[in-house]
This record gives sequence, structure tokens and C-alpha cells, in this order.
Amino acid sequence: KLSKRLQTIADRVTAGSRVADIGSDHALLPVYLIQSGRIPSAVAGELNSGPCEAARKQTADAGLTGKIAVRQGDGLAVLQPGEVDAITIAGMGGSLMADILESGQQSGKLAGVQELVLQPNVGEDIVRRWLVRRGWVLADEAILEEDGRIYEVLHAVYAEDAEIRNIGVYDLTVLPLPMESHKKAGWLYRMGPYLLRKPCGLLIKKWELELQKLERIRHQVSLSESPESREKEAAIREEMNQIKEVLACLP
Ligand code: SAM
Repeated sequence: KLSKRLQTIADRVTAGSRVADIGSDHALLPVYLIQSGRIPSAVAGELNSGPCEAARKQTADAGLTGKIAVRQGDGLAVLQPGEVDAITIAGMGGSLMADILESGQQSGKLAGVQELVLQPNVGEDIVRRWLVRRGWVLADEAILEEDGRIYEVLHAVYAEDAEIRNIGVYDLTVLPLPMESHKKAGWLYRMGPYLLRKPCGLLIKKWELELQKLERIRHQVSLSESPESREKEAAIREEMNQIKEVLACLP
């Protein structure tokens, strides 16, 4: 049985797609996608040899060596252009994820890819910004909790009219606040435009935990008397105030 996190990703992959799972580790996701009959074939990409071996073993044990190509390499470099319809990347930071996608874009490996299902562990805003910059539209977002950790899953589709559609997705009126536009946009990228439209307990919990973390940092910083610390503390306070403001305006 797949973990709730990987299941949330699997559920968003369009049936029938040829999928590449990048940073696949044990290849649990592609094995599940094929065994459940959702997709016909997959590529499991891995940078490191340990996880790559684990992926080969898992694939062989499942009897899927003919259907899952396990390849060692950096990001999308393991793919041929046009080889897959969908790409999943999960369990790494948003900044690394955006770097992988950007190099893939630069080298033409994203051409023909219709769908991305991404689960950044941190830095979701970096991924959302990359998507907008490169012509992808968020189709939906999910948030879930597993083993005491909160995860977000971003599902994006490629679209010719992405620029226009993204204006609707990142509609600033989602946050009815007397806050400057660029700050509002910043919070839409950080908290998630769909998650903010239908705020659930978990989204609130995630940002309340963030507030607690910031309060701990603020307290630490406040122990020092230096002018830099005063400045830093003021910036943290401002950040905390904005989070509280956003949370307070949610329906
Ligand atoms: N995707 C699986 C999941 O979500 O359960 C595994 C996540 S694991 C924490 C992250 C994996 O990404 C590691 O196995 C690591 O070797 C791999 N990785 C890191 N950088 C990578 C890159 N540039 N290209 C391919 N794989 C990478």
C-alpha cells in the first residue's frame, strides 16, 4: 500500500500517461501506477547510485523490468524529448525542484509534457513561481498530513493560454485585505491560490506552526542587542503580522 503522500500524487496522474518519476528512490510511485493499471509505462530517474539500485530491485521484484526504465542521471537529463506525457517529482526542496525543471526546460526535455505533479517538501512558492514563469497552470493543489508532517501537492498542466489563465488563478481578490498588491501576490504564491480559496484546518495548522517557529526565532534574535538583531526582529514581526492578517481574512 502506498503512503498517503504518494497516493495523493498518484491520484493526480492522468490515466494512460507515460510517466517519468524524477528522484524516484525506491520507484514506489511508478510501480504502483503500473500495478494499479493507471499507466502503461514509466521512467524512474535517480541521481544517486544507492537509490537507483533500490529502484532496479523494486522494479525487478515487481516483475516490471520491461515497463519501468530505471535510469541514473541528473533531473530530466535521463529523458528523451517527447518520451513522456507526465512528470512527477516528490520529496525534495522546491528550489532543487525548480532547478531540475528549469534545466529540463532549457534542454528541451519538457517539450510535449502535458502534466506535472510536484510535491516540494519546502519552498512551494519557488515552484509556483517557476510554473507561472514557464507557461504552466496550476490545475489543483492538495494538502495532507502524514507521520506528523504536512505536505502540499501541486498539479500543473501545460497550456498555450497559461498567461491569461494564471491571472485568474492568482486573483488578488482571493485575499480581501488592505495589503499592497505585491505582498498579496507573495502570499498567494506562498500559501497556494487553491488552498487559500478553500482553506482547510490543515492549511491553518501549517501556518500556525510557521508562526510558532517564527516566534521561537524572534525570541532567539531578541536576546541579542545588536542593531542588526533589532532589524531582523522587526522583519520577523512584520512577517508574523502578515501571516496573522492573511489567516484572519480567510473564509
Ligand atoms: N520521490 C520519492 C518520494 O517522494 O518518496 C523519493 C524522495 S527522496 C527524499 C529524494 C530523491 O531525489 C533521492 O533519492 C535523491 O537521490 C534524488 N535526487 C536528488 N537530486 C536529484 C536530481 N538532481 N536528479 C534526480 N534525482 C535526484
